[in-house]
Amino acid sequence: MSTSAARAWVEIDLPAIDRNVGRIKQALPPHVRYVAVVKANAYGHGMPEVATRLLQAGVDCFAVANVAEAAILREIGHDADILLLSPTLPTELARAVALGLDITLNSLAEAQALAALVRGRDRRAKVHVKVDTGMGRAGVWHEQAAELFAFVLAEPGLEWRGVYTHFSDADHDQAFTAEQRATFLRLLETIPAAARAGLLIHADNSAGLESFSAAAPFNAVRVGLMQYGLPPSAGSFLASLRPEPVLSFHARVVLVKDLPAGTAVSYNRTKVLSRPSRVAIVAVGYGDGVPTAASNRGHFLVRGMRCPILGRVTMDQTIVDVTDVPAVAVGDVVTILGAQGGDRITVAEFCAWSDCIPWEALCTLTQRVQRVYRTDRT
Ligand SMILES: *Cc1c(COP(=O)(O)O)cnc(C)c1O
Repeated sequence: MSTSAARAWVEIDLPAIDRNVGRIKQALPPHVRYVAVVKANAYGHGMPEVATRLLQAGVDCFAVANVAEAAILREIGHDADILLLSPTLPTELARAVALGLDITLNSLAEAQALAALVRGRDRRAKVHVKVDTGMGRAGVWHEQAAELFAFVLAEPGLEWRGVYTHFSDADHDQAFTAEQRATFLRLLETIPAAARAGLLIHADNSAGLESFSAAAPFNAVRVGLMQYGLPPSAGSFLASLRPEPVLSFHARVVLVKDLPAGTAVSYNRTKVLSRPSRVAIVAVGYGDGVPTAASNRGHFLVRGMRCPILGRVTMDQTIVDVTDVPAVAVGDVVTILGAQGGDRITVAEFCAWSDCIPWEALCTLTQRVQRVYRTDRT
């Protein structure tokens, strides 16, 4: 698709995905399976296109949040393994089995419901058991995990394929992450060796890769943020892999005008112009994914220059100060995230003035923003 008619769009640099996956795979021992996390529309990048590219780049399988997301992957013909990361509702289990998904079990009740569903059928349900080692969210609490392991092992309708945990603080606290890892490793010891040998054993998200140990029994990683080109924290080993941002975010100037000093700009008059100013109205707002927190704080790039946001970000439009930018015209491309001229707005910067985290900045890009896929470097 051409961007010439678009008001607001994101460009997805598909070759950057190839390079990111290549670097991550190189950093991992060859036996470790790469579970590509493509939930939330592939972190806003567009699931069908990105998933297809990830497979071509050599990932082994997918993880999504729920059955509806998994169904999209099946509809476009991917028969790779798909792991459901969130608990599945009882009403969704039949569809999950029919789609051949790897269902995450978080409780004995869930396991019993699934076992009852497949009993007497010729199809077994594929399951991973998720253990809560300190996240306090999904997963069976670790003190009850052995009971769930035993149930799954004894139930012929359940095909036990994996066991995993999830870190709550891998991007901040290596000591707590190590504790979670140790709790999980102790629990693995309670699984009979024969059963354990066939399991996919995984714990690491992008930030977890920081402390990934090839010596441990882990044989898979679940990679989200890193494959989209964002290290979970700066200055880490992960940043040294030099992931490349895949997505950039742009919109067009739809109006340019001169306003006298003293004019209040946008809703609630939070900004009063201190000088006669030239302003550009940009066709992007919180209806597209620019949070109102960026009001009077963020900058957009126009003609390669940083232009401060004036006043409130509104649903459809944001106003920037272009007084010092020569020759701004209707139709000019404005960059909200990514490079323009010699400058770049990073996701980290965008997050700082928007009070959000990188995952959130990507996921909150709305459907109104067109996705444009670049298959080669331009
Ligand atoms: C989203 C998610 C991931 C991916 O996390 P990143 O930080 O984006 O790499 C991994 N595991 C689980 C359980 C998740 O929910």
